[in-house]
Amino acid sequence: MQYTVAQPVDTLIQGAKVFDGLGNEARTCDVAINADRIVAIGELTSLLANEVIDAKGLCLAPGFIDVHTHDDLEVLRNPNMAAKISQGVTTVITGNCGISAAPAIVKGCAPDPMNLLGAASEFKFANMADYITAIQSAPSNVNVAALVGHTTLRNNVMDDLLRAATESEITQMCQQLESALNAGALGLSTGLAYKNANFATTDEVQAFGPVLKAHNALYTTHLRTEFDAVLDAMDEAFAMEKLFEIKVIISHLKCAGKNNWGRAPELIERFSVQGAHSRCSCDAYPYAASSSTL
Ligand SMILES: [Zn+2]
Repeated sequence: MQYTVAQPVDTLIQGAKVFDGLGNEARTCDVAINADRIVAIGELTSLLANEVIDAKGLCLAPGFIDVHTHDDLEVLRNPNMAAKISQGVTTVITGNCGISAAPAIVKGCAPDPMNLLGAASEFKFANMADYITAIQSAPSNVNVAALVGHTTLRNNVMDDLLRAATESEITQMCQQLESALNAGALGLSTGLAYKNANFATTDEVQAFGPVLKAHNALYTTHLRTEFDAVLDAMDEAFAMEKLFEIKVIISHLKCAGKNNWGRAPELIERFSVQGAHSRCSCDAYPYAASSSTL
């Protein structure tokens, strides 16, 4: 619908404290919406509207992006995504920690921690394009952007996950990653702390570097360890940026275990050592607890 002052807008949100998402100071103003578009922001008291929401004392912001989720199958299972939408999340990034719903070929049981995403029968997407089509034909209330899981790739091509991949298995995984990136995936995630990926050597992980670089794609990682050797694990991640000039995100950065209590400043310092132009960053839980699979 076109916006003209004479015509009533669909919705007018009045008097909210607006955070624009660009880091600017919040300002109190009105926001007019037609269909799925913001059509005016400012002092809009004279504007006609079919629905007026009095938002005095409330905050208004663009939808939040939940960058670390395992919602791969949940967006299809429960497309209303009430748990996310009710918290203001409008975009989810799936495929974290080495596990993704696509491209996945699951024979028998899904290996740990892929089983966190759902039952074996729910893994129906042998390639990323099929997964994207499924989401498009049953759209969820949140936008979805997908990473490709390294453990998922391993499970597609290896008969035994408790060893390093062979050269031919690495070639097959790189081909699957490439085709997923061509279909629109954001990048690759690893979950090297988990047993079913922990046997992957650093060389195996670095083999994906040229594919990621060629697609200007992202590398995210649940570090090989978050316990005593966490700094070494961070260096393993940072090497992907140094070697291939790709963006590296360390997932849920934390110091795990009693020996590590109080070491957070050391970890943060490790980022600044990478230099001002580093493409390395991280996400973190907004709470002081974590969970994993048994
Ligand atoms: Zn994780």
